[in-house]
Amino acid sequence: MASLFEMDIQFLKGIGSARKALFEKLKVTTVGDLLRFYPRCYEDWSCICEIASAPDGKPCCVRARVVSPVAEHFVRRGMILYKVRVCDSAAGLDITFFNNRFVKSALTVGGEFLFYGVVKRSFNRFEMVSPHFAPVDKAPALRPVYPQTLGLTSRQIEAAVKNALTLLPEVIRDPIPAAIRQKFGLCGLQTAIENIHFPKSPDSLALARRRIIFEELLLLQTGLSRVKALCRSANKFKVLRDFSDEFWALLPFKPTGAQVRVVAECISDMMGKTAMNRLIQGDVGSGKTAVAAALCYSAIKSGMQVAFMVPTEILAEQHFAFFKNVLGAAGMRVEILTGSTPRAKKRRIKDFLEVKAIDLIIGTHALLTDDVYFGNLGLVITDEQHRFGVSQRAKLISKGEAPHVAVMSATPIPRTLAMIVYGDLDISVLDEMPPGRQNIDTFYISGEKRARAYGFIKKIIDEGRQAYIVCPLIDSEDSELTSAQQYAKKLAEEHFCGYRIGLLHGRMGSCEKNYIMDAFLAGEIDILVSTTVIEVGVDVPNSVVMLIENAERFGISQLHQLRGRVGRGAHKSYCILVSDTKNDETIRRLRTVCATNDGLKIAEEDLKTRGPGDFIGSRQHGLPDLRLAGLISDVRVLNDSKAAAMEILRSDPDLSSEENRVLKAEVARLFSNVEGGFSF
Ligand code: ADP
Ligand code: MG
Repeated sequence: MASLFEMDIQFLKGIGSARKALFEKLKVTTVGDLLRFYPRCYEDWSCICEIASAPDGKPCCVRARVVSPVAEHFVRRGMILYKVRVCDSAAGLDITFFNNRFVKSALTVGGEFLFYGVVKRSFNRFEMVSPHFAPVDKAPALRPVYPQTLGLTSRQIEAAVKNALTLLPEVIRDPIPAAIRQKFGLCGLQTAIENIHFPKSPDSLALARRRIIFEELLLLQTGLSRVKALCRSANKFKVLRDFSDEFWALLPFKPTGAQVRVVAECISDMMGKTAMNRLIQGDVGSGKTAVAAALCYSAIKSGMQVAFMVPTEILAEQHFAFFKNVLGAAGMRVEILTGSTPRAKKRRIKDFLEVKAIDLIIGTHALLTDDVYFGNLGLVITDEQHRFGVSQRAKLISKGEAPHVAVMSATPIPRTLAMIVYGDLDISVLDEMPPGRQNIDTFYISGEKRARAYGFIKKIIDEGRQAYIVCPLIDSEDSELTSAQQYAKKLAEEHFCGYRIGLLHGRMGSCEKNYIMDAFLAGEIDILVSTTVIEVGVDVPNSVVMLIENAERFGISQLHQLRGRVGRGAHKSYCILVSDTKNDETIRRLRTVCATNDGLKIAEEDLKTRGPGDFIGSRQHGLPDLRLAGLISDVRVLNDSKAAAMEILRSDPDLSSEENRVLKAEVARLFSNVEGGFSF
């Protein structure tokens, strides 16, 4: 990038230290940041409305001639109104401006202008207040609207951007190599930046957007491939033979065909030339844990140590109990390491890990701590992968010498996206549920029917089952606790007298959380009221009904995920979505969740309605911040950028050539904010 991009924003005309501070709130500190601070949307001045048929309450653009001179009204001290009447071919419009003396000279009688604002109608009159306007021949087609911060208006940002654009050197260095630009029909960086801010036409805006999204995805994929290259290496830990049959015999159930197949795929990787690097995708309840255990078994039998990382302590505890039970019985040494492991025990575990006195360690992020060393780490498994960043995975992997990697995810994402989000992992799909699993009957009700739903839950509890209730979501994080507490209290006092109600929320210490979970698992709690902390992995088969408040606030994939907490045992299970939304689209989404239990179908529906951006832009995946790519609606640019990244890396894997120099710098910059760091 040209040095202009490093220039302090204060250098720009009209930006003093006060305004600079406001810009900083928007994370804009340099001229480059400003040029990359893209409009949130655009005022469309190219689509002209008739005054009489202007939309109600929504801004629009009208084209009209001034028919009266601007009249000045002194209302009170410091307040002057300017009123002017304009007409198009069919109707008149009365426009009012406040304290804007400039309009007096600008809006001359007979002149034709475009006015952008909200047309209000009262009886037979049309009114507009403080519209933006421009002479017909000078009006922009599209005008940028920037995300604002208190004290900084979109117009002020626009002015600053205009200033910055005039400083642009003739040629700015473009991270996308010329050959790639040509091949994929992309405009240059400067054109893109100019047009993303001040598009000459909707077409040029579309070109600019495509180019910028392409660039972000290209950087992303180049970086991810780099991560992958660091991960893929020769197989130093060969699995001696497939011990799966021995393992399956340890389980109380018969594995599904899919479990057997996926385990075989993994074992074959681990016996192969290069280290395994595989994503195991399976809907909630498809039995990923048993698959993981099977891999652990064969790996440990072959003399390796295994690290199994999960996102929450609850989940770590639960897995620990299962693995200790199954693998422990086979003489394998299983331990758990989390943030709340007592210090002395932590020390001992770390020592044991280093001297290979532990075969399998299950843990949370605590495993990533610098002083955790492994004697012989041969296999790394991460559960609920979407909760971890790429670099966290890389960090755990770096604790061994090119160990095998299996990542497990219950968030089914369509294949094209999986390739992006997970780089170039091989993918195995657990597409078969354990036998006897019933569909979870899902209902969508409005708040009025809540009492009936409570009655239904009571009946189920009286039959000896248990229930989850996911608390209402509220906006402020501080009151999450009070809201959950109040909800639980109200439930206990007004609706479920005599029932045992437990509360689980994100602010609890892990000790307390485990205590509650244990009590719930032991059947000492009838209803577990919880915030979304239960979303991931928790397994209490006797809990068969879940009621979710404010269902409209969740993505449908997330609802499906939450719902996966029930339907884990032999009993018929139910999910009740409570929502008072009036939005047709939201209602349709909720109905989709009711209609199918197939996670991949739901994900594809999600993809259709929200676009791939929501998957990629979401911080959930731990990917670097993307400014525009989060908004893509077209899968093609995804595939094109992927092809481009592959093409570039094929001929220049280290990006050491001159034409890839800017690209390399930008990739490093994009990934520099990623936790755990990243380097070329
Ligand atoms: P997930 O894929 O969501 O992680 P789990 O591994 O937690 O699913 O499995 C869900 C439940 O199904 C567990 O109670 C587990 O013991 C059970 N299970 C897994 N595989 C089988 C199987 N082949 N037959 C019967 N039950 C199984
Ligand atoms: Mg699981």
